[in-house]
Amino acid sequence: MDGEEKRFQGVPISAGVAIAPVRRIVSSPFLPRGGEARSAADELALFERAFQAVIDRLGEMEKESERSIGKEKASIFGAHAMMLADPMFKGGVTELIRNGRWACDAIYEKTMEIRGLFSSLPDPYLRERAADVDDIGRRLFREVKGEGDLDLNAPGRYILVTDEIAPSEAATLSPERVAGLITRAGGATSHYAIILSALEIPAVSGIDGGIFRDGANAVCDGQKGMAVLDPVPATVGHYERKLSAFFKEKEGLKDLRDKAAMTKDGLPVELWGNIASPDEAAGVLSQGGTGVGLFRTEYLFMNRDAPPSEEEQYLAYKSALENMKDRPAVIRTLDAGGDKQVPYLAELVGSEANPFLGLRAIRLCLQNEPLFSTQLRALLRASSHGDLRIMLPMISDVSQIRQVRERLEKSRLSLAEEGVVTRPYRLGIMIEIPSAAIMSSELAREADFFSVGTNDLVQYTLAVDRLNSMVSSLYEPWHPAVLRLLKMTAESASAAGIELGVCGEMAGDPLMLPVFIGFGFRELSMSPAKLPWIKSRLSRMTEAWAKDVAFSAAACAGASEARHVLETSAEELMAY
Ligand code: PEP
Ligand code: MG
Repeated sequence: MDGEEKRFQGVPISAGVAIAPVRRIVSSPFLPRGGEARSAADELALFERAFQAVIDRLGEMEKESERSIGKEKASIFGAHAMMLADPMFKGGVTELIRNGRWACDAIYEKTMEIRGLFSSLPDPYLRERAADVDDIGRRLFREVKGEGDLDLNAPGRYILVTDEIAPSEAATLSPERVAGLITRAGGATSHYAIILSALEIPAVSGIDGGIFRDGANAVCDGQKGMAVLDPVPATVGHYERKLSAFFKEKEGLKDLRDKAAMTKDGLPVELWGNIASPDEAAGVLSQGGTGVGLFRTEYLFMNRDAPPSEEEQYLAYKSALENMKDRPAVIRTLDAGGDKQVPYLAELVGSEANPFLGLRAIRLCLQNEPLFSTQLRALLRASSHGDLRIMLPMISDVSQIRQVRERLEKSRLSLAEEGVVTRPYRLGIMIEIPSAAIMSSELAREADFFSVGTNDLVQYTLAVDRLNSMVSSLYEPWHPAVLRLLKMTAESASAAGIELGVCGEMAGDPLMLPVFIGFGFRELSMSPAKLPWIKSRLSRMTEAWAKDVAFSAAACAGASEARHVLETSAEELMAY
């Protein structure tokens, strides 16, 4: 019955809360019309016009969204234009039209065929591309039907309710208009979730919006993954209080920007930023970050046909170090494979049934001398331009660190012979495989620092694919199994006296902050936009309180109990 409060539990996609009227978007179904086309020539001309319009629009959208979501995320539009122009897609559609299909049916058929091919592949990265094929197919389909872009940013402020939204559409949403987003499909680790978080639009998925009426009042709770239709005054009051606390906290962030990050009782903590290109270092500094805790160098290797040369890599690392002006910059060696595919390296890897457990990251580098030594030489050459810290991904055994040290020394000697001066640097490792956490006391004797990669540590500990939306509810960073591995790693680092940080997504989650502080992590590296929020939360807690929370959560018997401990602690923290 209309007017009675209804609650729906879905999956949290992007944090934050929105209270606003519903705006439902129903696009025309992506279905064939059937039958034979009247004129192949007319349909071909229609397709060509639509194709060009979509290519032009993608180019415009790439430019427009660079400012709101950053260059790297905006590159999705360029990637889509390339997929569209690929002979497999464009040529395939043309051929079907020549064979008598309507333009819209040819697009539908080809999209389904290529999407099916991608979704049946074992490689999770390529499987994810099925969503991109779907995205471009639907865009072209709408263009041919004369509908153009979905009207996602109409005047007003509303919660958008729709069946699903493509990443390229998510990137065009205006946070001024779209207060929140409720969809039926979409997983927490998918591309569109990352884009919505960057835009700070609260979002929930897994909710069938069929009964959400246009104009009805609704709540979108991106933290809990819940939506409420026709909320009663008490619910509205509850969420209004949450919203006003949020805006109050946001307002206070400006004053904190240039202050040192520390707990209420004066314990200093380094807050660093994660970057994917040297230019992003400026964003870290502007958000008050004091270092780069993770430069994902694999992005230098993507969207091209061959690895970057030593010179090209040297210039990128030098630029990151210089941009950080002598502050620490942790540069991670190539972490290709798994969720980060570099197509031209595929022949080195061969076909893999389980890419996440395959020849990736440090394993790939150690087996491919020229590839790795080019990167090590570039890093060593860059060492004289700042405070370089080299970090190795996916370490599972001490022998891997020893091999890298030997190779670094070999490269250093050959550079010295060439007259190139290098500066001392630190060599650290990522703890992102359970074996590394379990063996952390031995690893701590060989590494200069640890940085925990929680994205992978959670995936490998809980055996939950970080990219698979069908199991995203089981991807639980607060699981006591994960917390106990964090505690074990922290104890080993402290016993050996080495620096301890974290650079996975958990570092920027306020819920998890007491866990890290309580266990002794002193460097937290995250997306730069999250830095001010974490600094603010940090300044509210004491070390003793954080310890209490961390140890209680890790001692829980299961994931939901641990989450409850962390949630009530976060509420307690904000109540003061
Ligand atoms: C991680 O695994 O937590 C991490 C920081 O590395 P990536 O997300 O690049 O795998
Ligand atoms: Mg990782």
